[in-house]
Formats: sequence, structure tokens, C-alpha cells
Amino acid sequence: VPRVLSGIQPTADSFHLGNYLGALRQWVSMQDTHDAYYCVVDLHAITVEHDPATLRRRTKVAVAQLLAMGLDPDRATVFVQSSVPEHAELAWVLSCLTGFGEAGRMTQFKDKSSKQGTSGTTVGLFTYPILQAADILLYSPEPGEGARAVPGGVGGRPPTGGPALRVPVGEDQRQHLELTRTLAQRFNHRFGETFVLPEAHIPPGAAKITDLQEPDAKMSKSASSPQGIIDVLEEPGPMRKKIMRAVTDTGSEVVYDEEKKAGVTNLLRIYSALDGTTIPDLERRYAGSGYGQFKKDLAQIVLDTFTPIRERTLKLLDDEARLDRVLAHGAGRASRVASRTMDAVRDRVGFVGRG
Ligand code: ATP
Ligand code: MG
Repeated sequence: VPRVLSGIQPTADSFHLGNYLGALRQWVSMQDTHDAYYCVVDLHAITVEHDPATLRRRTKVAVAQLLAMGLDPDRATVFVQSSVPEHAELAWVLSCLTGFGEAGRMTQFKDKSSKQGTSGTTVGLFTYPILQAADILLYSPEPGEGARAVPGGVGGRPPTGGPALRVPVGEDQRQHLELTRTLAQRFNHRFGETFVLPEAHIPPGAAKITDLQEPDAKMSKSASSPQGIIDVLEEPGPMRKKIMRAVTDTGSEVVYDEEKKAGVTNLLRIYSALDGTTIPDLERRYAGSGYGQFKKDLAQIVLDTFTPIRERTLKLLDDEARLDRVLAHGAGRASRVASRTMDAVRDRVGFVGRG
């Protein structure tokens, strides 16, 4: 079975529609076809200023949402990054293989640090992509592991039969995944075959959801304004209002045009991704009916998707003991894999070990 690894930051009180369509929906479907590892990356969340009590609460709400979306802790390994110290340890080793200029080319750092102002920017925000590389590579299947001949290959892989490591991420993380591949290759080259090269799994169509108020910027937990973001845990009333007030343009035609109609295009993508109707079919359906009806129908679809998730999340949050059990179980499962990888890394790098 191919392996899948992905993470999400507990940087807000709720996940949003972009997280859901760009990543989380795939997490749920991939738990059935993959050996799945999903983590709430709290080490990443402290790369920007944070409050400890808020982080703790958000981490639990994050896990509750993942379960509410359908992740099953028996089928998938669901855990919190800081519970597995090997993440930070491997990040250190990889940071010693990363060029300073190479890290400086990461566009997420440029975006986020410019928003924080240089005085608020930390070295942790700078090395964020290296920690992300560690998150992924720790769960690398062993290069020989499961190396059975697979006729024709799986999921577009060449038919080498090697083990696969897939990473479902939104378009915004493509550059970080490229860096991860580069670092894996570099490590393998210098110290011997250790890591399988991860592959980005970017769902077509729903790859990037933009801010409802600024349709040229990505919808983001930490950067979007409340009016620009649709939270999974949003109450129905405000959710409807936000969609009705989403920025469109002065025209009235529901047509897909990334350049001239970025707002409408974003709404069309969301509609199509949630409802399964193709974009050309939606354009035909709403020809001549204006934006009002289109937005109203879209709001209903979003509500129908998120209401059950919201209700299940609230229920799960009522049972803190159960959540804690899920986290302990996940941390144990993740640790078994991570410690095995890290043993190999320590040995290959030349650390003597505790004897
Ligand atoms: P932050 O603003 O704190 O960085 P975020 O909204 O970017 O939060 P992350 O936790 O960084 O969310 O990312 C979690 C996952 O969601 C990643 O796989 C990322 O690619 C995906 N993702 C984030 N924003 C979007 C978006 N607007 N459209 C599609 N996918 C997204
Ligand atoms: Mg992000």
C-alpha cells in the first residue's frame, strides 16, 4: 500500500473552505487507499507569534474537525507533530543540508514575512519548509519496503514497483514539496539511499481557493479577513451572508475567466468542487440569471457540506477524554515509524548513538 503524509497548522479556531477542498477532503478519501499519516503541525504554528492557551485549544479543535470530517483513528494515524520529537530532530539534520540562498527563495516566507514586518519575522518562519520536509520524510517507506513489481505502475508512477510516498497539498505548497524532494535526493546522495522521493498529490480543479473579498489572494487562516474566509465551523447565518457578499464584478454573467472575473471564477470552482457539476454546465445553468441566484444556491451547498461537520465537531469537543485517547494512540503509531527512520538517519550521518 502506498503511504500518504500531510499536515495542517492549528493557526485558527476553524479550518476553512480552501483547506477542505485543497487538502482535507483528499485526506479522508486517501485513508482507504493508503497507509495514511496526518498531523496537526503545532511546531509550524509557533513560527508566528502565538498564545499558549489558544494554541492548545486550537490543536484540539483541529483534531476534532479532522475526525468530524471522517478520519478514522483506526484506519489513519492522526497525531500532533510536537508529540513526536523526531520531527524537530530530522529538521535540524536537513537544515544542515539546505543552502541559505535555497531557503531564501521560498515564496511563502517572502509573503508571510512581508506581512509580519522584518522585526516580527523569526528564523523559525524562515526554516519552516525544512521542518515540513522533515514531517514528510520521517514517514518515508524504506526504499526496499513493499518493493513489489506493480504491473503498469500505480497512480502514474513508472512501473518500477518501488514504494510510494504521496503528499496531498494545495497549489501553495508545491514549492515546499519540491524542496523536500531536493533534500531527500541530496541526503540519499551523500549518505546512502534512505528516503523515497515524495510526490505532490494536487487535486485538479480545487487546487487553490481564493479569498472572497480579495479574489487574487489565497484564502488563508492567518491572512484572510473574517469576510474573506469561509470557516468550516461557521454558523449558517453568517456563512450565507459572506457568500452573498463575496466580491464579484460589475457584470452579471456567471462565466469562468481567471483574469477578468477572479471572484466569479473562484465561486464557480467552489461550486463545481462541492457539487460535482462541471464548470461549463454551471455556466449554462446560470446563463442570464445573474449572480444572486448563483450565490444563493452556492451558499446552500456550502451549508449542506459543513453543517454536519460542525455538529459532529462540537460533539467531539464535549468528550475531551476521548480526544486525548485518540491523540495518544496516534502519537504511538507515528512514533514507531518516525523512530525507525531517525535511527537510520542518525547512523548514516555518523552519530555514535547512546550505545
Ligand atoms: P496559514 O494562513 O496559517 O498558513 P493556511 O490556511 O494556509 O493557514 P495551512 O495549515 O498552511 O493553511 O495548510 C493546510 C493545507 O491546506 C495545505 O495542504 C495547503 O496547501 C491547503 N490550503 C491552504 N490554503 C488553501 C487554499 N486557499 N486553497 C486550497 N488549499 C489550501
Ligand atoms: Mg499556509
